[in-house]
Amino acid sequence: MQSAHLPQPLLLQNKNLKRALVPFCSQAIAIFLLLTFALTNFSFMKLDTKIIHAGVQPDPSTGAIMTPIFQTSTYVQQGPNEHKGYDYSRAGNPTRTALENSLAALENAKHGLAFASGVAATDGVIRLLKPGDEVIAANDMYGGPYRFFSKLWEDFGIKFIYTDTTNIENVRKEITGKTKLIWVETPTNPLMNVTDIEAVAAIAKKSNALLCVDNTFASPYLQNAIDLGADIVMHSVTKYLGGHSDVVMGALMMNSDELREKLFFIQKSCGAVPGPMDCFLVLRGIKTLHVRMQRHCENGRKVAAFLRNHDKVKTVYWCGFEDAKGYETAKKQMRDFGGMMSFELKDENVAAAIKVLKATKIFALAESLGGVESLINHPATMTHASIPREERLKNGLSDSLIRLSVGIEDADDLIEDLQQAIG
Ligand code: PLP
Repeated sequence: MQSAHLPQPLLLQNKNLKRALVPFCSQAIAIFLLLTFALTNFSFMKLDTKIIHAGVQPDPSTGAIMTPIFQTSTYVQQGPNEHKGYDYSRAGNPTRTALENSLAALENAKHGLAFASGVAATDGVIRLLKPGDEVIAANDMYGGPYRFFSKLWEDFGIKFIYTDTTNIENVRKEITGKTKLIWVETPTNPLMNVTDIEAVAAIAKKSNALLCVDNTFASPYLQNAIDLGADIVMHSVTKYLGGHSDVVMGALMMNSDELREKLFFIQKSCGAVPGPMDCFLVLRGIKTLHVRMQRHCENGRKVAAFLRNHDKVKTVYWCGFEDAKGYETAKKQMRDFGGMMSFELKDENVAAAIKVLKATKIFALAESLGGVESLINHPATMTHASIPREERLKNGLSDSLIRLSVGIEDADDLIEDLQQAIG
């Protein structure tokens, strides 16, 4: 309002109002800036505090403690390319920015980028490569990336070499002058194999290759691969980070500014980005990551012990058993062992496994993992059906293997459910 055009009494009122408002506003701005500083400087925070606060700040326009869902595709500009940091939501959206900052903080990384799914995030990493480049990948990994490495990317001249990365010598042996990327999943889906991230990172560094670690099974609560030398961490956010089986999303976290620029260019050019509502749901999910993970680990420990002692169960794959193949490495690089496991019955007949899969009442027969509810799954015909049978069997994934994602229900109920299903 122009004060010159105001009548005298109004002008006075206006001046008094201004006098009263100036100290109030500067105080409010100071508090906001202090809060912003405190919440952006999360290096001093312990993990549980960081999970709740890092990367997210109260909304500056309203003070809303939860990041608003900026459900907009575009942003009004003052002049061409004169804007407030956002021009189009494929390139950037404030709800997504808050989530990306939070994801980066959780992995102790400088940058985070969110994608429409875990597979879209993986696709983003492969797009860093050129025809003729080689990738060394874990032979026991989730079927989705395997399918699109072998059925899509190989057609563009990228060579994928699959090996058992739990044995570091296998990785070293496969390195050639063309190796540009090492892709490790640890623990693996579904056999819970563990790879020594620090040891592979040393090989990657020496051979000028990038190391990308799929950290989905551990979640950032249990393992931080950037701290162990990985260049990029990938998550299927769909799983523990989202935590409530209501969102499909992926993410990449990295420290290098150069890598961030390249991956951001891929993210905005290819356009596999999540919408603001999904980003909000994951921001909300993340706030309970630590309490959920603690219970997943507690329940996982109890269910694994129950299965191991069951006289109809032949083998249980869980990396928390002291005699498990990957136990020492898992103990070194993880904070606990999580709620993912798989097992085989002594009766290796597929029909016997299917009978169990159909009989559970609390464990729901479904794809996916990492949600609050317990799930049971048959990798050979569900999550890993895209891997050729011969290849699967060679890597130890049998036709009768059953995978569990142990949720956060009462452990006694879960055990009772498995007991009645296995018989
Ligand atoms: N990595 C792992 C270990 C997974 O289990 C999955 C999905 O199950 C993915 C990647 C792919 O993620 P999304 O389903 O979000 O694309």
